[in-house]
Amino acid sequence: MKAILVRTCGGPEQLQVNELPVPAPGPGQALVKIAAAGVNFIDIYYRTGLYKASLPIAIGMEAAGTVEAVGPDASEVAVGDRVAYALSRGSYAEYAVVPSAMLVKLPDQIDFETAAAAMLQGLTAHFLAVSAYPLKEGVTALIHAAAGGVGLLLVQIAKMRGARVLGTVSTQAKADLAIEAGADGVIFYSRDDFEPEVRRLSSGHGVDVVYDSVGAATFLKGLNLLRPRGTMVSFGQSSGPVAPLDPQLLSQKGSLFLTRPKLGDYCATRLELLWRADEVFGWIAGGQLKIRVDHTYPLREAALAHHDLEGRRTSGKLLLIPD
Ligand code: NDP
Repeated sequence: MKAILVRTCGGPEQLQVNELPVPAPGPGQALVKIAAAGVNFIDIYYRTGLYKASLPIAIGMEAAGTVEAVGPDASEVAVGDRVAYALSRGSYAEYAVVPSAMLVKLPDQIDFETAAAAMLQGLTAHFLAVSAYPLKEGVTALIHAAAGGVGLLLVQIAKMRGARVLGTVSTQAKADLAIEAGADGVIFYSRDDFEPEVRRLSSGHGVDVVYDSVGAATFLKGLNLLRPRGTMVSFGQSSGPVAPLDPQLLSQKGSLFLTRPKLGDYCATRLELLWRADEVFGWIAGGQLKIRVDHTYPLREAALAHHDLEGRRTSGKLLLIPD
């Protein structure tokens, strides 16, 4: 089978196509024939070495496809099931062996590409809006990179929960998409200083919560924009990691809360995973949550997909399709 491996951490060119044997599922595992794999920013962190893994690194954390074989005690799925998963590495491939407890069976209305586009970023947007900081009416949220993969989903879910949403974007095209997703106001943070802009759009009060996936470039200013006892949800670092911080700063800026959550801890049990996935797929099937696939690439063009994602050229989901 064809699979993308990184043998030396570095740029997109390190994503090389390899010919490997189709793996066999062990106990509690299933073999999935991949129909579509999702591209996520975390794949860039593994490729560059920001997140550590032993070499060669099998890249990709998300896919949808069909169960081809099951190992002993893989009771959650059966051969022929249409499934999707997130957070099991090695999805940039024609086949992957995945712990069966991580597989979600797909409702009939959800096709493979939608499923591969919705799992990792959809579950993330779900846990951010529902659990990390439960949004509700009367709350104002600032969402950075509002037209990104997670961003467009988070804006929609935030609006479903009745929050007021301000979003940052880098271009007019991205602003249009964020507004279409429901954002009440957009700020061009690569052109304007977003701090006074957000202050203006929040009538000087600041916001209740900042969802910050951009990291180094936005984190400290985000703290300045929080109301007293507001919450900073720092969940990514697309512009680089956040510098270490003295907890006293949270006190000085108004007894703030800071959390640095990750999806794995919010899908900690199979029950929790299925609950979040059921809600996300239910919203998609019901037309409340729109999935935007920005671009699909053949698997062999994984390097181009990374080039586009880290070059800020995309809005929504990128998919890799095995040839
Ligand atoms: P996106 O589609 O959101 O792509 C990243 C976006 O970030 C870009 O489109 C760009 O939007 C913005 N950005 C700002 N500065 C930079 C920069 N210097 N370089 C690149 N992009 C920049 O990616 P994803 O939806 O896959 O992921 C979004 C973030 O969420 C990532 O940081 C990721 O690590 C995080 N994440 C965290 C999870 C968790 O469990 N904690 C789970 C899933 C994702 P613009 O052009 O508008 O500025």
